[in-house]
Amino acid sequence: MRIAVLKERAPGENRVALTPETAKKFAALGATVAVEEGAGSGASVTDEAYREAGVEVGPAAQIVKDADIVLGVQAPDPSALAGAKPGAWVAATFDPFRNGDLVEAYAKAGFEALSMEFMPRITRAQSMDVLSSQSNLAGYKAVLVAANTYGRAFPMMMTAAGTVQAAKVFVMGVGVAGLQAIATAKRLGAQVSATDVRSATKEQIQSLGAKPVFVENVAGIEGEGSGGYATEMSEEYRTAQAELVSSHIAKQDIVITTALIPGKPAPRLISDAQIASMKPGSVIFDLAVAQGGNVEGSKPDEAVAKHGVTIVGFSNTAGHLAADASALFARNLYNFLSAFWDKEVGKPVLDEEIGDAVRLTQGGKVVNARLATT
Ligand code: NAD
Repeated sequence: MRIAVLKERAPGENRVALTPETAKKFAALGATVAVEEGAGSGASVTDEAYREAGVEVGPAAQIVKDADIVLGVQAPDPSALAGAKPGAWVAATFDPFRNGDLVEAYAKAGFEALSMEFMPRITRAQSMDVLSSQSNLAGYKAVLVAANTYGRAFPMMMTAAGTVQAAKVFVMGVGVAGLQAIATAKRLGAQVSATDVRSATKEQIQSLGAKPVFVENVAGIEGEGSGGYATEMSEEYRTAQAELVSSHIAKQDIVITTALIPGKPAPRLISDAQIASMKPGSVIFDLAVAQGGNVEGSKPDEAVAKHGVTIVGFSNTAGHLAADASALFARNLYNFLSAFWDKEVGKPVLDEEIGDAVRLTQGGKVVNARLATT
């Protein structure tokens, strides 16, 4: 069983799908592990560190030759996989709803694409969930970047020269990233409020010591929502939410937006008119900017100034914490493959519940039910 890892080719992608720690664990299962030279450099992992962990380090073509499994953060172009075994597995993120051509190309090339974003949200798969591990770090980073961009302090400070007021932070979307954003902003001493469409998040917001701000007159999504995910909301709900946001946002200094809907563009939560109502010097971090953005006018990897407010957002927020993000991503992949490792055959054998959920292509065809219905 040969497991290969290439250097990520996407612009600005500093993460890597394997660390020396997970390489050793794969070797302990009986696998041979090979990594392209320089693959870990963006995440502060040297080729030497891989070699010390028993990994073969070399040029891409050599690494991929005869691979049974290829691991990636962002799925490589199938042309980079020439020489891998026919039907080899590629476990990575594919962004399948937006990358239909890539999925087709994987089917054509005869590889089995395993999309880590499609990991089901069930208890036993929690340790395999790259969306959670990466969102958690992204939520933290968003608050730090917003704090750094903001020309004032976060905590209240009583000094001999007078009092500095605590910053007011509003978090929109309280999934994994939003919860971490709340916790980080609280730790920095801000006054934090938060909102979501899923009613289960109300208690979670309170348990972190923040104030829930919810649409009251129109029903949102009961409890956790299906699989923990939100859906698109009705026109009536969106109007009520816009009114609520308008009345709240003008008093905020920092807004962190994190709202996503699987398979759909990110919902628009903040309009230009609402930005104009904020105080000059306020900062908005749009964590959803790469999925279309929650904020009107936000642009990936640019600081946009509008009405005296700075709007920031990264195309790859977790990639700005590449070392930790890689360590968690690599563990997610190890937890996934090792959970299914069949010692007798010396390779992983997926079950239906998780295998069918993550498998996009097999036997030359696109086989995933979620892609067939969209
Ligand atoms: P996500 O990234 O898909 O979305 C972020 C948040 O935005 C969600 O809370 C969503 O409800 C919210 N949102 C969507 N549209 C909105 C709108 N119009 N206005 C305001 N908010 C809106 O979500 P996520 O971070 O991946 O996680 C969602 C849930 O799933 C969490 O409760 C999390 O604990 C759960 N989860 C469970 C597992 C597991 O059991 N294996 C793994 C990961 C996450």
